[in-house]
Amino acid sequence: MTIENKMVVSVNYQLKEAKENGALIEQTSKEQPFTFLFGVGNLLPEFEANLKGKKIGDTFDFSIKSANAYGETDPEAVGELPVKMLLDGGLKQEELKLGMMLPLQDQAGNVHQAKVIGITEEMVKVDLNHPMAGIDLHFTGEVLAIRAASESEIAHGHVHGPGGHHH
Ligand SMILES: [Zn+2]
Repeated sequence: MTIENKMVVSVNYQLKEAKENGALIEQTSKEQPFTFLFGVGNLLPEFEANLKGKKIGDTFDFSIKSANAYGETDPEAVGELPVKMLLDGGLKQEELKLGMMLPLQDQAGNVHQAKVIGITEEMVKVDLNHPMAGIDLHFTGEVLAIRAASESEIAHGHVHGPGGHHH
């Protein structure tokens, strides 16, 4: 069996920044692999393209440029918010710290996580870039399991059972 669309795939992988001594970003284990429904648009397209056609036991080692992952860093995606507005919104003064993530809602109702990069008495400077923006990704790992997805998994667009949704 090889990895094709509408297969449930389990991989054990390590994700690092794609540069010398790149930081470890996340990793799974053989006991708790990453299990996902392949080919339904849930994952980075280039991640899936690199796994397509692989068999159980195959290993992988590939990199994805930030532009094809979570995007380049946009220097324009920073803004300032009045401290008063945040406090009025329920944030406590003592909770406000450099590096913290603030959930901000836009006019369409979507919530964006903004990183606090500066604090003055009256204003807070936030960076709205995705935390992984500007980072080239390097994946290494092994394919542990492949099975056909059930009809309900395909209908729901996600995996049921171990490593997936329980409902
Ligand atoms: Zn479901």
